[in-house]
Amino acid sequence: MRNRPIPGSSGRVRAVRRFGDPVLHTPCQPVTAFDGALAELVEDLFATMYAADGVGLAANQIGVDARVFVYDCPDDEEVRHLGHVVNPRLVEADGVTVRGPEGCLSLAGLEAGTERYDHAVVEGTDLTGAPVRVAGTGFFARCLQHECDHLDGTVYADHLTGLRRTRLLRRARRAPWEWRPA
Ligand SMILES: [Zn+2]
Repeated sequence: MRNRPIPGSSGRVRAVRRFGDPVLHTPCQPVTAFDGALAELVEDLFATMYAADGVGLAANQIGVDARVFVYDCPDDEEVRHLGHVVNPRLVEADGVTVRGPEGCLSLAGLEAGTERYDHAVVEGTDLTGAPVRVAGTGFFARCLQHECDHLDGTVYADHLTGLRRTRLLRRARRAPWEWRPA
């Protein structure tokens, strides 16, 4: 039996776009070509996510306008979930809502208590166009909702209101990376 290559091992580490970059605040285009360029994009996403020590990464976070995300994320039972989804649709988001700490590589070093559903299901395809369905609970459900949001041009800060939002944006302005108002 042949070992499959480690995801991201042939990918390039790309610059992560930061909060305020217009590409993060604009919905992404659906993928229509299931070709080598798409496979390269998935590899680059994995390489960049691992280099930044993240648990999920969406294509627009590396400046690519395409509906693709990758993940390598534990759930609350410490079960590891690893994969990618092309043209994802959040088809279920239900159960109790939980306010838990949420972070984002585009708001590096910061986090804020954010409400998410405890259960989520995403449908889409893999990079060959074959259908995939990914279900998650707990922290992984949070990740699935977070990544689908990215592809719709939404960052978790957009879910915050009042003092939580004010505090996060104040800390973002003081962050060592460049912050540009959206
Ligand atoms: Zn994010």
